[in-house]
Amino acid sequence: MTSPAFDPTAARRAILDRIGIAARAAGRDPSDVTLTAVCKQQPWERVARVLKAGQRVFGENRVQEASARWGERRSEIRDLELRLIGPLQTNKAADACALFDVIETLDRPKLAQSLAALRDRGLALPRLYVQVNTGEEPQKAGVVPAQADSFVKEVRETFGLTVEGLMCIPPEDEEPAMHFALLARIARRNGLARLSMGMSADFETAVRFGATSVRVGSALFGERPPAGG
Ligand SMILES: *Cc1c(COP(=O)(O)O)cnc(C)c1O
Repeated sequence: MTSPAFDPTAARRAILDRIGIAARAAGRDPSDVTLTAVCKQQPWERVARVLKAGQRVFGENRVQEASARWGERRSEIRDLELRLIGPLQTNKAADACALFDVIETLDRPKLAQSLAALRDRGLALPRLYVQVNTGEEPQKAGVVPAQADSFVKEVRETFGLTVEGLMCIPPEDEEPAMHFALLARIARRNGLARLSMGMSADFETAVRFGATSVRVGSALFGERPPAGG
C-alpha cells in the first residue's frame, strides 16, 4: 500500500475550513468548535508534524498507549490538551487523571466513584464528559439514552462531580444526524453546553447539530495502521 504524501498543515487547514463553513451555515461561531486530533495508533512522526502545524488538542483512546507517548513530552509542549476518548477501566483512573485534561468516557457509577475518591485524596480531576450510547449498541460503551438523565444527576449529586458535556459515537451503519440530535436534546435538558460528536466521515453534520468539539483522526493523519500493531 502506498500512501500519498502527508501534508499535515494542508490537511488541518482543510478540516478547519470545513468546520468553519459548517458552523457559519448553522449560524454558529466557528471558534466555538474545537478540533480534537485523534492520534491513536499513529506513528509519533506524524503526530509531531501535526503538532508543528499548530494543533494542540489531541484525542487518545488508550491510557497506556497515551502515557507512553505523551508522559515525558507533556510538560515540554505548551498549551497541549489531551482528551481520553476510549473506555476507562477503574483501575486506570488514577493514571488517566494524571495524564489527561479531559475524560470523555464517564459512563458508569463505579467509575464516577473512583474519580470522586481520587478527588477526595486531593487530586485535580480532568474535565468530564458523559458518554451516551445513543444507538444502544451492546458492544459499545456509554450510558443508554433512557438512563442518561439519572446518571448525570447521580454523577453530580451523589459524587459531587462537575459534568462539562456529553459525548457519543453513533452506529457506523446509521444516519448520524439523528444520533447527534438526540445527544443535543439530552444535553439541553440537563443544562450541558458541550457536545463531543462527529468524526472524519460526519463532523460537518455534527457541527450543524451543535458539536462543540469534533474528533477527527483519519481525515487529518491518514489511515491508521491496524490496531494492536
Ligand atoms: C478513532 C476514533 C475517532 C476518530 O475516527 P476517524 O474516523 O479516524 O476520524 C473519533 N472518536 C473516537 C471515540 C474514536 O475512537
